[in-house]
Amino acid sequence: MKRLISARDILAAMEKHEDLKVDGNTIVTAQAEDIARENGVVLLRGPETNEFLSTKAVAKEPLSSEGGDTLGQNIVSKQPSESIPLSVMNEKKPLFTADQIEHVVSAAVDKGLWTKNDLQNLLHSEQDLPPITVGVSGRHIHLSKEHLCELFGEGYKLTPIKDLSQPGQFASKECVTLVGPKGVIEKVRVLGPVRSQTQVEVLAGDTFKLGIPLAIRLSGHLNDTPGITLCGPKGTVVLSEGVIVAARHIHMTPEDANRRELHDGQVVSIKFGGIRGGRLDNVVIRANESGALDCHIDTEEANALHIKNGSIVEIVK
Ligand SMILES: [Zn+2]
Repeated sequence: MKRLISARDILAAMEKHEDLKVDGNTIVTAQAEDIARENGVVLLRGPETNEFLSTKAVAKEPLSSEGGDTLGQNIVSKQPSESIPLSVMNEKKPLFTADQIEHVVSAAVDKGLWTKNDLQNLLHSEQDLPPITVGVSGRHIHLSKEHLCELFGEGYKLTPIKDLSQPGQFASKECVTLVGPKGVIEKVRVLGPVRSQTQVEVLAGDTFKLGIPLAIRLSGHLNDTPGITLCGPKGTVVLSEGVIVAARHIHMTPEDANRRELHDGQVVSIKFGGIRGGRLDNVVIRANESGALDCHIDTEEANALHIKNGSIVEIVK
């Protein structure tokens, strides 16, 4: 049976600092190729792999059916029993013709091993559509213009230090302190530009430290959320509401959503590979014209699953 190397296999190899062997029996998706190249995962191609084998077992010694790795045995078993020049091994033909592959795929669908939907998903997710990457958010705050002035002084303007994934959004040099009934968190980064309403985004663990209820909300949905006191260099603001733990979400344009057969507001699950891989449910699709493709989770979620900025996520509907 043909072996498929997908983006997830590359990421798994990356986690383990391994190279991947690719022989004539392996299909590597275009996306997987790209990710391997970008992340320095080496794909040991057939000829190179043969060459590798030749120095170990083939060229200098008669072929043996014992020992060696699985890939070596696959190659060796197709050849006559004695030593074979490397040049001949490198010309080894693929195990299946295109017609045979089509026949195998059709048979798998007929027997119910794969649905046509599975095949469509494979084709779309692996080839036509760009991968969805993860952006990990720490605690931060968005300020209204009024609150910015109260905390930093009249006429104050934020100082951008880093662009964020969503167009026009930036991290600023400015930080504030959160003061809750039970505790204080300093150096909370202000993100810009200013918004119509101040919104504080904290981690679930922060709510215990601050001593406030935990309200999981999408950005902008601030009804029935707890308040907090904000301290800046020039003043203090007492918020009656506006502290949320951000609900995980995926930004994209309506066109992106359409191509993936998703829509704004749809709730999906996301799946990650890797050593602490897992699945997160209740991820909201946020499709709007300015949405740059990015899956936003917070540092607690990311740490739990051992993933980082730029990791690839798979959507499960
Ligand atoms: Zn977001």
